[in-house]
Amino acid sequence: MAGILRKEAFKIPDGVIYLDGNSLGPLPKAVGARVQEMLADEWGEMLIRGWNGAGWMDQPARVGDMVGRIIGAPEGSVVMGDTLSIKVFQALASAVKLVPERRVILSDSGNFPSDLYMAEGLVGLLEQGYELRTVAPEEVADAIDETVATVMLTEVDYRTGRKHDMKAMTARAHAKGAVMIWDLAHSAGALPVDLAGSNCEMAIGCTYKYLNGGPGAPAFIYVRPDLADRVQPALAGWLGHRKPFDFDLNYAPGQGIERMRVGTPPVIQLTALEVAMELWADVDMDELRAASVTLQEQFIEEVERDIPQLTLASPRDADIRGSQVSFRFEHGYAAMQALIDRGVIGDFRAPDIMRFGFTPMYLDASDVTAAVRIIADVMHNDLWDVDKYKVRAKVT
Ligand SMILES: *Cc1c(COP(=O)(O)O)cnc(C)c1O
Repeated sequence: MAGILRKEAFKIPDGVIYLDGNSLGPLPKAVGARVQEMLADEWGEMLIRGWNGAGWMDQPARVGDMVGRIIGAPEGSVVMGDTLSIKVFQALASAVKLVPERRVILSDSGNFPSDLYMAEGLVGLLEQGYELRTVAPEEVADAIDETVATVMLTEVDYRTGRKHDMKAMTARAHAKGAVMIWDLAHSAGALPVDLAGSNCEMAIGCTYKYLNGGPGAPAFIYVRPDLADRVQPALAGWLGHRKPFDFDLNYAPGQGIERMRVGTPPVIQLTALEVAMELWADVDMDELRAASVTLQEQFIEEVERDIPQLTLASPRDADIRGSQVSFRFEHGYAAMQALIDRGVIGDFRAPDIMRFGFTPMYLDASDVTAAVRIIADVMHNDLWDVDKYKVRAKVT
């Protein structure tokens, strides 16, 4: 496992055990200098010449290929831009057009609300009898029938970490003639993903979680190469146009995945992400997954041994769990604030979930043991039972 741990590459504040890389990855130390350089030498000196001279215009595709390598996507099939919510909309709008005679978007109740809201918004906009159907995660496979245009699922449940079987679910969708969209928000950088092998039509995800791109880092979108020249982008922006600088009054979609670009890319943020992605160049995703599972199993074992107040909310079987472990506790919000105050940073998801992410690039067994000791102290001594921990902040 020596190849995975690279704590020295990240800025982790003293006294912090960071178990929230599933929500916002820490700062890779190399980002600061490179972003400073970009500001000084590129924006500062080159000004508008940076679009060509510093490669800004090609950056969404260049970084897309870096992300593509860790999610099993071929070169030229992934492009960066916008936020994940926007990419959900874009993928859905294109997917339903691929199956024009059908009207159902199928998802599950474990999906992240924004994904469902974007689907509802699209349904309202289309006004052609479309409907969003949401079933329990265990019922999705059986709910795919000949009315379903597209199945849109997040592989790993953001609350419990429960993981769908991407390959089997995609095969099921295809057997019924539906288009499959995977949201990889909690998969990219967390576990091996074989997009090409799954044969799904589209995938989307964000880069500020396990990929450490920083708050607001751009999202990615993948379209299966055989479809990339066929999909109709609903968000037809000028940078997705075949020839943006012809300033043609009519839209003509660009080549392949380029058509999923919308407007001007966030160059500063992409520069930070590009540096963060360099950390992945020699990471073996199977090795990373094995290290993650080892940390998770240790955490579950130690928590269940020492802290009976917490109830496991994640699947016990690591094969159907992502890279996070969640426990239920009635006063989970207050307990998490007490932990954060003591340097163990996880997060809380309503109504009662305490969520801990495991990221073997900067966590090892001694961190897990130290975290469990602090959690035990908080729980055994009711250190969470303090007024200031019970006031909900804007971000939980
Ligand atoms: C984190 C997350 C989002 C967040 O979307 P943004 O537009 O980046 O804020 C959306 N969907 C899922 C499944 C997520 O996990």
